Amino acid sequence: MFVAGRIYQVSVSSILRFSKLIHLESSGHHCQYRNFQTSSLKGAKMIIQHFNAWSDNYMYVIHDEDSKESAVVDPVEPKKILPYLRERGLSLKYILTTHSHADHAGGNSLLLQLLQADGAPKPQVCGGGSKVQSVSRLVSHNESLEPLGSAISIRCLHTPCHTQDHICYLVERPGHSPAVFTGDTLFIAGCGRFFEGSPEQMCANLLDTLGRLAPDTRVYCGHEYTRKNLQFAASVEPDNADVRAKLERCLASPDSPTIPSTIGEELLTNPFMRVGESAALQRCAGSSDPVKVMAALRKQKDSF
Ligand SMILES: [Zn+2]
Repeated sequence: MFVAGRIYQVSVSSILRFSKLIHLESSGHHCQYRNFQTSSLKGAKMIIQHFNAWSDNYMYVIHDEDSKESAVVDPVEPKKILPYLRERGLSLKYILTTHSHADHAGGNSLLLQLLQADGAPKPQVCGGGSKVQSVSRLVSHNESLEPLGSAISIRCLHTPCHTQDHICYLVERPGHSPAVFTGDTLFIAGCGRFFEGSPEQMCANLLDTLGRLAPDTRVYCGHEYTRKNLQFAASVEPDNADVRAKLERCLASPDSPTIPSTIGEELLTNPFMRVGESAALQRCAGSSDPVKVMAALRKQKDSF
């Protein structure tokens, strides 16, 4: 049934999933659509916006269009994000910090100061350990935060290895494919260095915690490293047609952001998620033990 006179905003990435939408006009990062009343309409109001920071970092704003409640992920350059929050009248409920490294957590205190100067309410600063700058809420594995608005849930996934305090955040709203913010644990076609952890831990992170999420879960990572990662993937799995096709696609538009990927796509193209199943990788590592393959692969990538 058609709802006269109502305009809904949907993120560009969700357009394809709403086949009954009629295009009205495009503006900025989002397109405006007049919508038929469908069951998917309920899910059309979770927006995810990415921002570039430093040389290759990503920051994200997640917001609920009904309640205007929002969360930011790793706002290391908060002055780039504040105008977006102000213009849309968003209230910031959470700063979601993936881990304590300065290029992820280093903007937390400044963002709190800037919000205070605006007279805005103080958001909770979530993180997995006390080294996270200005952390006010220590979260643990599988902990759920109070939702954004009535419908956007956020679940914390502890993924120790790159750092021991690393948390990924799984964000879901009915009618949307889920989204997971993976910081420096899972990159598109790669993974973070094992600064504070072991190959066993990265196997648990990638094969169990993240690898078992729904295949349509969108992956929003902490850095734009995709093209180099895919080149490495092609070198260790030269017969993987999915890797070659994705590498070609990414090289054809060298300046475009490659986020989001999906868990399903990563299971096909990310060598670090394929350590338990790829004969080529196992040959390369001289072992069929996923932990040994993970260790060998990381070592090779460190000098690639
Ligand atoms: Zn890091």
